[in-house]
Amino acid sequence: MVPASPSAARLNWIKNSVEYVRSNIQAMDGYTPGEQPQGGKFIKLNTNENPYPCSPKVKAAIGRVCQTGLQRYPDPAATAFRRQLCELLTGELPDISPEWILCGNGSDDILTIITRTFVDTGDVIRYPNPSYVLYKSLADIQGAEVDVANYQSDWSLPPEFSEPQDRLKLALLANPNSPSGTIVPAAAVAEIADALPCPLVVDEAYVDFADANCLALVAENEKIMVTRTLSKSYALAGLRFGYVVAQPQIISELAKVKDSYNCDALSIAGATAAIEDQAWLAENRAAILATRERLTNELRSLGFECVDSQANFVWCRHPRHDSAQLYRDLKSVGVLVRYMNYPHWGEGLRITVGTDDQIEAFLAILHPLLH
Ligand SMILES: *Cc1c(COP(=O)(O)O)cnc(C)c1O
Repeated sequence: MVPASPSAARLNWIKNSVEYVRSNIQAMDGYTPGEQPQGGKFIKLNTNENPYPCSPKVKAAIGRVCQTGLQRYPDPAATAFRRQLCELLTGELPDISPEWILCGNGSDDILTIITRTFVDTGDVIRYPNPSYVLYKSLADIQGAEVDVANYQSDWSLPPEFSEPQDRLKLALLANPNSPSGTIVPAAAVAEIADALPCPLVVDEAYVDFADANCLALVAENEKIMVTRTLSKSYALAGLRFGYVVAQPQIISELAKVKDSYNCDALSIAGATAAIEDQAWLAENRAAILATRERLTNELRSLGFECVDSQANFVWCRHPRHDSAQLYRDLKSVGVLVRYMNYPHWGEGLRITVGTDDQIEAFLAILHPLLH
């Protein structure tokens, strides 16, 4: 039947268009990132950003790109960054060449590319609980099912994590983990990867704050992909740059799925300059680790239970105080921390390691809330 008028037809389409949305998208909640209040009146200890400004060399490199102009498309392969990264990582992974690296618009983009490459509707994605909440959203978007294995009480992985399962296509492991800051040793990760029937992503977003990493495993096992980001340790969350290291035959498949220009000219130049300045990284890391130790000790002396963290945050609970209430009380006086409540696990507070001044102010505010 011919519609009465074009506008009536359009109205009808608008009314019904939501019904055309894929059913798994309609059903999903969508990922909620930590609060990002704009304006800066909070002491912000909720999303694991680095509290210090990035290396001045990053700003200089971005400035040079601006001067040259932005009328051309960027290098789709981010070659300058990949070459620089090879120089940085060759000591740990002697086989590495640019063909082992794919860059992305933050490592969330990398995780999306990996999921789209390996996981079909009805397939299964496995990850531990509690961990990075984005993994569930990635599965939901694909229309995949999730198989969640609870961490054991000592933050090691349960045996189920490595067991074969029908339609299991991808396993994801944040290492160091968020929210716990704990690490699964490389030897255990190697065994898990050998036992798993599917590829394993080792999400090393926080690895620069840790004592160890899984990079060397990539040469031994083509199932292992190591993802990293410049958001945390290089203080570049606002720039958006991450990468994955995997064997070249895997990288070529991932490259088919990414947007052609997923990294822009400014972020490629900034990220390249950032990893070139290892003196900045070493100094920043030392500052964060010193503050992390202070924060952990102070929290424990206030009665909190906290695990030793290998990341730039500390996960804690107080046996006599409700975490949600503490979160709200802190927020009402201008301190943002992350309150998390995980299904089949429980709740707690994740506190990002800020500057010494921020942590001192936080502790001064926290102390009277506990009486
Ligand atoms: C922050 C984070 C990421 C991603 O960060 P990007 O800013 O997208 O690079 C990935 N995994 C974990 C566990 C994180 O905490």
